[in-house]
Amino acid sequence: MDGPKTTEQRIETRAIHAGQDPDEETGALMTPIHANSTYVQDAPGEHRGYEYSRTGNPTRTDLEENLASLEGGEFGRAFSSGMGAINTVMNLLESGDHVVTGEDVYGGTHRIFTQVYEEYDIAFSFVDMTDLDEIEAAFREDTELLWLETPTNPLMSIVDIEGASEIADAHDVICAIDNTFATPYLQRPLDLGADVVCHSLTKYLGGHSDVVAGALVTDDADLDERLGFYQNSVGATPGPFDCFLVLRGTKTLPVRMDRHCENARTVAEWLDDHADVDQVFYPGLESHPGHEIAAEQMDDFGGMLSFELDGTLEQASTLVSETEVFTLAESLGGVESLIEQPAPMTHAAIPREERIAAGLTDGLIRVSVGIENGEDLIADLEQAIDTAVN
Ligand SMILES: *Cc1c(COP(=O)(O)O)cnc(C)c1O
Repeated sequence: MDGPKTTEQRIETRAIHAGQDPDEETGALMTPIHANSTYVQDAPGEHRGYEYSRTGNPTRTDLEENLASLEGGEFGRAFSSGMGAINTVMNLLESGDHVVTGEDVYGGTHRIFTQVYEEYDIAFSFVDMTDLDEIEAAFREDTELLWLETPTNPLMSIVDIEGASEIADAHDVICAIDNTFATPYLQRPLDLGADVVCHSLTKYLGGHSDVVAGALVTDDADLDERLGFYQNSVGATPGPFDCFLVLRGTKTLPVRMDRHCENARTVAEWLDDHADVDQVFYPGLESHPGHEIAAEQMDDFGGMLSFELDGTLEQASTLVSETEVFTLAESLGGVESLIEQPAPMTHAAIPREERIAAGLTDGLIRVSVGIENGEDLIADLEQAIDTAVN
């Protein structure tokens, strides 16, 4: 299709149009689901761009172009899960390499690092990423990767992406960042110096809690080629139906994120004033230690927050069980509000003392604020808190 280059357009327009030209043969407006494994060749070795769907599939290509455009990157790669994407970055390393990462990285990331890649003799330093000096101090001769996440789960700690990627750059180390919580609508790490951006598309980009998928985006052609080699060799690639579902989600990412942010801010401020709530962790609140950096590197503060009920583990369990609009469930980023208690759920694998030392108290509650009516969300939390503490 001729027309203005989508990279010159704003993100709301690119979300809908990038990589999604109408089908040339039929004029179909929506990306066709190419449910197909192999492709006809006109002569041996003469294919029309596709040979086999693990290597490439047209529906996946449309998604990969869309995701690259959203992150402001050249090259996108889609995977069958966020973990599949993370694993592909790890495939770049060799035995004997060292990785610097955050002490509060996503649980699945912590697991693949310590229970899979440590077995392959890759070493990890888990540090407080909010402190650039700690990041710098953790670098060694054999460090090959800096793995960032911001905001983090569940305390919404903020890492200075530009500062951290400068450190990686000075050491000639790849800087990868998991941008799942913020999404490219709110934060574009490639512009801030990161080398590769990772996503669990399962969350906000898919946005409807109906698909598991992942992605990597980079501006570096050599890096993309290496990632593509592992994407094809390892084979954690998404099917065309999943790609279609994610594309359906990315079209509305900007409008959904606006409402997620608005509702999260409303809920955070309301909780902050509540007598039975000790602390609220939301980067949009001025009291949040990462507020200033978040205000600089994010366009808004996202839909995730946590709060500490002034009460026991049992009372917090009652709270999360009593909500009616918020659903008690793990995961995040869908249109519906979810609530969970890290201690017995997402962070149950961490021994209690270690967990509490990391700030994950018994009364901590995490919410993924959905796009329902904000007043309904507050009314629901109000009745659940009342039931829990009285
Ligand atoms: C969910 C999640 C992942 C893992 O993604 P899957 O799609 O579940 O494999 C990685 N990082 C973050 C921050 C996540 O929330």
